[in-house]
Parts: sequence; C-alpha cells; structure tokens
Amino acid sequence: PATAPAATSSTTHAAPRGGLVEIRGVRKSFGDLEVLRGIDLTVRPGEVTAILGPSGSGKSTLLRTINHLEPVDSGLITLDGEVIGYRRQGDLLHELSEKEVLRQRTRIGMVFQSFNLFAHRTALANITEAPRRALGVPKAQAEARARELLALVGLEDRAGAYPRQLSGGQQQRVAIARALALDPSVLLFDEPTSALDPELVEEVLAVIRGLASAGTTLVIVTHEISFARDVADTVVFMDHGRIVEQGPPSQVIDAPAHERTRSFLQRVR
Ligand code: ADP
Ligand code: MG
Repeated sequence: PATAPAATSSTTHAAPRGGLVEIRGVRKSFGDLEVLRGIDLTVRPGEVTAILGPSGSGKSTLLRTINHLEPVDSGLITLDGEVIGYRRQGDLLHELSEKEVLRQRTRIGMVFQSFNLFAHRTALANITEAPRRALGVPKAQAEARARELLALVGLEDRAGAYPRQLSGGQQQRVAIARALALDPSVLLFDEPTSALDPELVEEVLAVIRGLASAGTTLVIVTHEISFARDVADTVVFMDHGRIVEQGPPSQVIDAPAHERTRSFLQRVR
C-alpha cells in the first residue's frame, strides 16, 4: 500500500530510546563554588521539562552546559546519543572540535530572559541571520521560513520592525521565532518572562504553550508555577546545585515530598 499505517511510520522515526538529552553526574564549579553537584536528568522527545528553584541554585548554568556555553568539570551530557562538549575528570576524556560544537549548537535553540535581539536588525533579519550564516540557507528561502515563524508567534505584520519599535513581549516572541529558525531538536528557555511587564507575560506563555502542544521538546526555567503545572510533563526542583526532586506536576508541585520544595513553592506563589 502507498501509505503505511500510522503505527509503522511513527516507529520508523526511531524515537531515541530514553532521552533526547541525557545528563549524567554533571558537576561544575566556578572557583571554590560548586554550582552543579551531580545532576542526572533525562529530557524525553516531545516532552516539556520545567526547572524550578531559588536564585543561585544552578538553573541557568545547567541550561548553559546543555548549549555548550559552559564546559562541565565531570559527568556527561548527550544530545540524541552524541556527547556534548567535553567531560573532564583529571584527564580530558572527550573533546569536540569547534566545528562539531557549532553543528550541535544549531540543534539546540535557546531563549534568554533579556531577549538578546540584534538591535540594528529588523525582526525578519534577526530570524534569518543564523540560518543564512550557520547553514548557508539562501536569502529568499530563509525569509520565507522567517515569515512563517513570525506568523506562528503572531507577529506576521511586524517583519520590518526594529527591536526598539516592539514591546518586550513582542521582542521575546521574535526571539522565540529566531530560536526556531534552525529547526532545533530541543528548545531551552531561561526565565523567558522574568524581564517582562506583567501584562505582557501571557502572550509569551501562550506561544510557549503552542509549541508544547505541537510536540516541541522544551526545557523551561521558570518561576511561573501555574504555567509549569499546566504545560510540563516533568517538573524538576533544584536547590544548591542538586535536583531535590523531579516528577509530574501533580507530584512535585501539588504534593512535594521535600520540605525545601514546599517552602520554595510557598514563597513564589
Ligand atoms: P540560577 O540560574 O539558578 O539563579 P546560576 O546558574 O545563574 O543560578 O548561578 C549559580 C551560582 O553560580 C550563583 O552563585 C552564581 O553567582 C554562580 N555563577 C554563575 N555563573 C558564574 C560565572 N560565570 N562565574 C562565577 N560564578 C558564577
Ligand atoms: Mg538563572
């Protein structure tokens, strides 16, 4: 038959066994300060992982290690079974070439608290920059895709706007479109709404919800607890460089097992 049954076509895509991102025993220090103290985490394809925790607990550092912005001291991170960065434990066990790092980085999208758009470029040019430069996508093709992504984040009419002409919420939606432009396997968000005026938070969360329901693999550091409960498959609570507990929202948010999780949730609610 011309069309394969649904069950067959989904298994031929060979969903990686276990995690899309696997983090095992990751440690990281800055000088004397141990910021990650043995992190184990599995991010499954198509799932949303929300990371909660007090300021300074190591959440941003963890995201940065996944995106090659921070080398780990020991432990291992893999993306689709490929080692990310390098692990050091006395000896250098594995080091990637700069070219390999760049290639892997194109598979990981990241959205920061502070938008980080290029101020002197339009929304459209912000989105086409990486595909054109990193992948050599022709201009017309990159722009056509960028317009689709602008429509996805509800900004199809602002292609020609510069960041200063956009609200914070609009800028963050352009930043999300930009992160999607390389078709990443996983999208990392570091407190994507923390820098926004309260009335602009929801428009950004709505875009992230849309990505989640479309099956995009997301890892989101957030203080928006009710959003995490709605959208996350797995909630991770971090404190002092460790994962204190992780599990479905019904467990970690609604019935936390640890006192530290309970007191954190009481403080941020
Ligand atoms: P969170 O995102 O949970 O607030 P971070 O990962 O940003 O936590 O930081 C964890 C700890 O590591 C903090 O004490 C922070 O000051 C420290 N830290 C983060 N980045 C650096 C760095 N590049 N150099 C030195 N200390 C850092
Ligand atoms: Mg942080």
